[in-house]
Amino acid sequence: MVGNSNEAWIVERANALGFDLCGIVRAERFSELGHFEEWLGRGYAGKMKYLHDARRTDPSLVMEGLRSVIVCALNYNTAHPYSTKAAAEAAGASGPPRGWISRYAWGDDYHAVMWEKLNSLAAALPERFSEPFTARAYADTGPVAERLFAKHAGLGWLGKNTLLLNKAYGSWLFLGVILTSLDLQPSLQPGETPPPDQCGNCRQCLDACPTNALVAPYLLDARRCLSYLTIELRETVPEEFREAIGWQVYGCDICQDVCPYNRKAPVSSLQQFEPRQEWRTGSLLRPQLERLAEMSQEDFREAFRNSAMKRTKWAGLVRNACLAMGNAQFERNSEEQRRAEALLQKLAKSEISTIAESAVWSLKRIQRTPE
Ligand code: SF4
Ligand code: SF4
Repeated sequence: MVGNSNEAWIVERANALGFDLCGIVRAERFSELGHFEEWLGRGYAGKMKYLHDARRTDPSLVMEGLRSVIVCALNYNTAHPYSTKAAAEAAGASGPPRGWISRYAWGDDYHAVMWEKLNSLAAALPERFSEPFTARAYADTGPVAERLFAKHAGLGWLGKNTLLLNKAYGSWLFLGVILTSLDLQPSLQPGETPPPDQCGNCRQCLDACPTNALVAPYLLDARRCLSYLTIELRETVPEEFREAIGWQVYGCDICQDVCPYNRKAPVSSLQQFEPRQEWRTGSLLRPQLERLAEMSQEDFREAFRNSAMKRTKWAGLVRNACLAMGNAQFERNSEEQRRAEALLQKLAKSEISTIAESAVWSLKRIQRTPE
């Protein structure tokens, strides 16, 4: 529980700004940060060099005079089917092949949505605190272990899928923090521990992961994770994972979709998280692969200007769409198959080797589609 009126005021303001959860934590070097160093040492971060930033494991290096962290969470779940259900439906459907974009990227860029709210909260602090202080907001943009702060601010536990889980909200939560020099009372009282781990004997996320990226409970090898492979990796996707990519073209929701705590997760009322409609791509909910694969760089820039999807960059998205086409089930000699082949033949000549190589791989697979 929040201890005194200053802290209660912050939580109340955060809720008024639309945040679903808010807690406060001292900026400490939590013991889990030691495990993070070990995780990096095993190479599990792949090519994500930014994760090696020393500030990630020592909050005192992030901001001079840092004392407290205000952690805010925003539910982004929408009332659309989970990818696991949608994939089963798509398998028997006719029509052009479609892809799956991770739920968090359907709507407006969450960084902007979170920043606006976090900056409003930071800007309101002088109404309550008259002493000089500094405050800096991050929404998945700074060298900060948001999940850990969220756990120790009492917002939930870190599940076996390594994500923050809240009993009421599940894991469809964007996390943001305000780092401040203010000396705030933490949400957890001295001696109070963070919410207990409620994964119990469940291991549905581990069993459902198509690439065995969850190499053990609470342990992710990002190099195997489709979120990393489809968004962070700039090179060709290693062959061993191409089939496992299935229809995912941006991120992967599977280990969240199967989580029992997301079964009845509440839905956000924010229109900003509803799937966008783009004239180039159509809806970002199950977009047509062909439309993604044939986008020009200019189309990509225009379509994803205010979208988290710009992170994968144009070549990454086209590469992913090519691979997903290679995993699609085509009716032999159908119009869809002919169109996909023609597009892949064109992309196989791309000067971008990641695109060309993915197109060649997919062409081979499509051309051996069984009768
Ligand atoms: Fe596995 Fe997908 Fe979860 Fe990554 S996001 S751990 S690939 S289920
Ligand atoms: Fe925990 Fe089960 Fe959810 Fe995995 S699927 S995070 S084990 S509750």
